[in-house]
Amino acid sequence: MKRICAVFTFMASTLSLAVAQRLPEVARPENYKLAFAPDLEKATFEGDETIAIHVEMVVLSVEKPLAAGPATIHTTYTGILNNEMRGLYLGKDDKGRKYAATQFEATDARRAFPSFDEPDYKATFDITAVADKDQMAISNYKVVSDTPGPGDKHTVKFATTAKMSSYLAALVVGNFEYIEGSVDGIPIRVYSTPGKKEMGKFALDAAEYIVGYYDKYFGIKYPYGKLDLIGLPDFSAGAMENIGCITFREVILLIDEKQGSVDLKKTIASVTAHEIAHMWFGDLVTMKWWDDIWLNEGFATWMETKPVQKWKPEWNYKLDEVSGTAGTMNVDSLANTRPIHQAADTPAQIQELFDGIAYGKAASVLRMLESYLGEETFRAGVNAYLKGHAYGNSTADDFWSTQARVSKKPVDQIMPTFVKQAGLPIISVKAQCSGNSTSVMLSQRRYYYDRAKFEAGNDQLWEIPLCLKGSGSSQKCEVLTKKEETFTLPGCSTWVMANAGATGYYHAAYEPEAVRGLANDAEAKLTPAERIALQADIWGSVRVGREPVGDYLAFAQGLQADRNRAVLEDVLGRLNYIGQYLVNDADRESFRTWLRQYLAPAIKEVGWEPKASDTDEQKTLRARLLNALGYDARDPEALTEARKIADKALADPTSVDRELAGGAFGLAALNGDPDFYDRVMTGLKNPKSPEEYYLYFFTLPQFSDQKLLQRTLDYALTPNVRSQDALGLITNVMGNPAGEKLAWDFIREHWTEIEKAGGPFASAQVVGATSVFCDVGLRDQVTDFFTAHKVAAAERTYKQSIERINNCVDLKAQQESQLASWLGQHGTAGGK
Ligand SMILES: [Zn+2]
Repeated sequence: MKRICAVFTFMASTLSLAVAQRLPEVARPENYKLAFAPDLEKATFEGDETIAIHVEMVVLSVEKPLAAGPATIHTTYTGILNNEMRGLYLGKDDKGRKYAATQFEATDARRAFPSFDEPDYKATFDITAVADKDQMAISNYKVVSDTPGPGDKHTVKFATTAKMSSYLAALVVGNFEYIEGSVDGIPIRVYSTPGKKEMGKFALDAAEYIVGYYDKYFGIKYPYGKLDLIGLPDFSAGAMENIGCITFREVILLIDEKQGSVDLKKTIASVTAHEIAHMWFGDLVTMKWWDDIWLNEGFATWMETKPVQKWKPEWNYKLDEVSGTAGTMNVDSLANTRPIHQAADTPAQIQELFDGIAYGKAASVLRMLESYLGEETFRAGVNAYLKGHAYGNSTADDFWSTQARVSKKPVDQIMPTFVKQAGLPIISVKAQCSGNSTSVMLSQRRYYYDRAKFEAGNDQLWEIPLCLKGSGSSQKCEVLTKKEETFTLPGCSTWVMANAGATGYYHAAYEPEAVRGLANDAEAKLTPAERIALQADIWGSVRVGREPVGDYLAFAQGLQADRNRAVLEDVLGRLNYIGQYLVNDADRESFRTWLRQYLAPAIKEVGWEPKASDTDEQKTLRARLLNALGYDARDPEALTEARKIADKALADPTSVDRELAGGAFGLAALNGDPDFYDRVMTGLKNPKSPEEYYLYFFTLPQFSDQKLLQRTLDYALTPNVRSQDALGLITNVMGNPAGEKLAWDFIREHWTEIEKAGGPFASAQVVGATSVFCDVGLRDQVTDFFTAHKVAAAERTYKQSIERINNCVDLKAQQESQLASWLGQHGTAGGK
């Protein structure tokens, strides 16, 4: 599954039983014969099922006891096509045409058919669908027969599948159209609701490239005969890797290729690469139990970068991976994080495992391991692991014992320290040149944002593969296995960077002099990836009070001439945080002045006007600069420019650069009046693409005017907003400082509706969104409210939100005056 990032987060189910809910090992399914006859008008379906099982020991309520060995269970039943976007559910397209679709991961196949609904009960499936004459049915495998009847319907039978887990079965029935391509003899189709199929072209090109790439990389050809990618208007997650039948939210599959933004193209390519990677990681080889969900999600996340980087090298997608690691560390720096391998028994606990740890941390750790073993050795280990467990199930130990065997390196020593214990290490680096070599003393401890916890120290120990790089340009790779260890680097270096290549999953902390040296040499001697990692490290030291925030700003200042999109994007992200949370009202103007000066050379060089010769990176960079200047620096010129772009776009959406439009609308909304609001609303009624729809949609939470924000909140709970989008609208109002309190009041007043509005995932999303607060009073309200309204699938998320608020309050108190004095020296030079 792919979660939706940033604006919509994907989460949780409502079952709250805290007891183990595992199947006893009494019988195993061999084959499911499943027939579904959905009635879209009545929102019901009939099911007919025969499960061939192998009985080991079973007590069933039957007339006579069953002998051990083969048996069959035959069931006919009726069900409801629910509107909760799970199980077998009912959706509607923009024209009101209904369709039925499935979403089973993690524990909802049982809502559509009686099943041994656990990942290691793999069986073959013979699926049949009865559909209206004008409707098509799509499932995991190819159609083997399509015959008229019963009545005026038609009956579609699909080929027998390979052995697979129940959560990967799929069926979609409704009015769809498609475009088709192929690679290595595998037909690939992109399906959309009527009128949109041409917008599937970009994803089809991506999918063809990606399947071809994986066929070679894995040394196992795509095994399921055909591959369909289906864009669904009502869909709760981002995308779902059903075998041969991947379902997506429309907006991350369908794009107007000419008009569409680079950001969305990157998202579509990477989500497609992620889901297709699952055909091997997750579908062919499946984790034995959900406690190892990282074997699915971490692998797919790690893998998605490879084909995208190769397909579109001009995007530098590998650098986004480095920024992603820094993002993951944000979660893992909390005391309330969890280990990658995490026990989970109830559906609510299982659902909560689909988090930044299963995806981001696991992917980062795999990347570190790959860099340690070398790409080819690691790939050989991956291939051996996949071959060894194809059509079966595996555990974390299976993975690293295979890698250890293939590489003959202590992978089975290193990996458990990252997979079975929570958190991440910070490595203190002390380098000293003596004669013709440099001794590098490294010491490790667990990193926490919580300063008291961090300073208290702890006994956690990791085995950390790392590469050292000195100012004298010598490099050396080692494994740090002890609390403290000294290594020697040839040549004399004034600084030594402890994350050369930027593939490490740890923070490095340097002595003040080394930080200055690194800052001076950053552009000349560090790669863009290393500059991103170093920035995250300096920020990491600021967060725990090892360094004043001025050191980070000084480092950022040193990167003023850096035009690398990914590096600058990271700097701007942290400056946004500083502006939003650490700057007090008295210093706001000097911070904005400093920021305007800081970004002036960059925007002068990049220019406001898009040029025909722009690379994708330049387009993206211009958009980021517009945002930072307009929002964080409140630069009058940027705000005027933004309003011009938004007005032009409202008159003719094709007349503006889509890259700039996203930010421009948000900035125009800052000072937007009711007339502008109404025009955005009008745009929302008749979009030409899903991307255009969400451009208007996510402008609505960005106004400053309280009455308009209230309109946005009220609108979120109307039938005009799809239920998977409602919470995104509300939580985005909460993320807007002007709407923070308004949205929080609204959430508490409308809790009953909100719990229902977003289906089973909504409430957990809201719990997570409260982490934007940085205020003791609001924290206490959050505590009071969620103590009274417990959300089962967000127990950990709740604790994390409270911890984040506390960390923010503490950081602000600690750095506020330091920031003021730094700005006093640097911020007001240009006057107001
Ligand atoms: Zn996934």
